[in-house]
Amino acid sequence: MQTPYYLIDKSRLLPNLEKVAYLRERSGAKALLALKCFATWSVFDLISDYLDGTTSSSLFEVKLGREKFPGETHAYSVAWADHEMADVIANSDKIIFNSVGQLNRFAQQTSNHTRGLRINPGVSTSDFDLADPSRPFSRLGESDMDAIAKVLDQISGFMFHNNCENDDFDRFDEMLTGIEDRFGAFIHQMDWISLGGGIHFTGADYPLDQLADRLRQFADKFSVQVYLEPGEAVITNSTTLEVTVLDTLFNGKNLAIVDSSIEAHMLDLLIYRESAKLLPNDGPEEWMICGKSCLAGDIFGEFRFPAALQPGDRLSIQDAAGYTMVKKNWFNGVKMPAIAIKELDGSTRLVRDFDYADFVAALS
Ligand SMILES: *Cc1c(COP(=O)(O)O)cnc(C)c1O
Repeated sequence: MQTPYYLIDKSRLLPNLEKVAYLRERSGAKALLALKCFATWSVFDLISDYLDGTTSSSLFEVKLGREKFPGETHAYSVAWADHEMADVIANSDKIIFNSVGQLNRFAQQTSNHTRGLRINPGVSTSDFDLADPSRPFSRLGESDMDAIAKVLDQISGFMFHNNCENDDFDRFDEMLTGIEDRFGAFIHQMDWISLGGGIHFTGADYPLDQLADRLRQFADKFSVQVYLEPGEAVITNSTTLEVTVLDTLFNGKNLAIVDSSIEAHMLDLLIYRESAKLLPNDGPEEWMICGKSCLAGDIFGEFRFPAALQPGDRLSIQDAAGYTMVKKNWFNGVKMPAIAIKELDGSTRLVRDFDYADFVAALS
């Protein structure tokens, strides 16, 4: 198979899915895949066996969830346009409004639909201002207690999303207690509560039982159905970006240029200034792996190898599923990576390739 391509390995996806299923079973919480993190629908057949449905950030994600993923479809968006609402209603089981303003705007139109409101609890676990839902002047959810109190009779649930790659159970526990203390009286009047995504519960050392028991305790205390909206936790470590070395240079460091681009194919690393991951990253040779776009800083990272790299060498860049495939773009006209799936029996099949016609079709 010609590089570049994303390779989704179902045998690496499965351990995450089994943890999700275990957490659902033990806690009673439902789990919805956050499509903004991962929307590669060719593996939804497997994922949907272990989750309850999907949640969204836009009308198109709502429709994709309804069309491709059996189960519940939650519709959330930072703001809906008037012309979208009929489609949102037709394709969702619940609509979660981001503000009281939006709830009021669509109150009549959605009066027969299950409705919820996003609450901003004012604390989060994000280290990046850019990704912090509780940053100053945040638009992500209501925080005005009086405004929330006035619409309680129009909604049956709340959504809180204030975790971000949080692998610390105690920190989660502390924040949930904060939510209970502050919003408990409101939560008692609801039927369901979504606690959003960002809990890294599929990580190797995560105390899954403690999380499950805490969620069940919360659900029992308030008599609510709890939902989780995992994105990254579902697909973490399941996928690689397969690339080939095209050229090597020396400019004070050993440089290898590959047939891919961090800006076009792993944009999140560039945004958050993180290095890509390459395994085993061991050996006497140190090389900088560079993308082929003209962006000077198009660099995947520096890694160790057993021998000097040469054109034709193949590399597997790890953890290329979450916030990666959904962000790929046509910058520099670099060939978009194909998508391949490694089945549980070990066979690999190509599910999508992108060619010049797709590049042309992306603009006009
Ligand atoms: C981003 C997001 C998620 C998924 O977050 P992960 O960190 O990928 O688990 C879930 N719910 C909402 C509202 C989000 O914005």
